[in-house]
Amino acid sequence: MKERLQKILAKAGVSSRRGAEELIRSGQVTVDGSVVTEMGVKIDPGSHQVKVNNKPISDSEEKTYILLNKPAGYVTTMHDPQGRPIVTSLLTGLKARLFPVGRLDLDTEGALILTNDGELTHQILHPKFNINKTYVAKVKGSPSRAALKQLAQGIVIDNRTTSPARLRVLRKSARESVIEIIIHEGRKRQVRKMFAAINHPVIHLQRIAYGSLKLGKLPLGKFRSLSRAELKSIFK
Ligand code: URA
Repeated sequence: MKERLQKILAKAGVSSRRGAEELIRSGQVTVDGSVVTEMGVKIDPGSHQVKVNNKPISDSEEKTYILLNKPAGYVTTMHDPQGRPIVTSLLTGLKARLFPVGRLDLDTEGALILTNDGELTHQILHPKFNINKTYVAKVKGSPSRAALKQLAQGIVIDNRTTSPARLRVLRKSARESVIEIIIHEGRKRQVRKMFAAINHPVIHLQRIAYGSLKLGKLPLGKFRSLSRAELKSIFK
């Protein structure tokens, strides 16, 4: 059966579909020896040889799913032109080549899922599932009720109003406050931009849950495998 090249690459655990598009665009993918840079090409993987950087892909690779407590100072891209540390360097002792599901900022800590299952990644990131992401933000000062209500109802960042969010004040003082915020969008630096928009910039940010999958007591910089049941709980 013919399938889109980016789907074939994702299924083979090379990267997410979005990552596969980048590999195709940058000329790293060949089909039967010819570089394909065009998007949307459909082929039958059973009758053509697909290679990434000259290495044949395989769709029988065992799928691995892990949860990492990402420390600040690590990037969630697969390589960094500035040479900063990459999250996958924390996955010591794992044979599979995993990639992060979505992103966390360089300076954000917390729950990050990594896998070689590009199809599952595609589903998790698909806006139709509206997966909740729970963050704990330490912010400067003490936001007023009105300001928090504004964040909960939606606030304009980058010329677009955010979707409704849930907020809960965990601690507050005149100097700084700790607020739990649940959002389902995944816009770049969204939580930081939301608090900046009400003039209470984020001092520290941690993601404590992805759907119903909680970070729990996993130490900073450590990872563990996820069970099937836990994977399902991401969609709740
Ligand atoms: N919002 C942010 O501001 N940063 C993240 O890393 C995730 C959500």
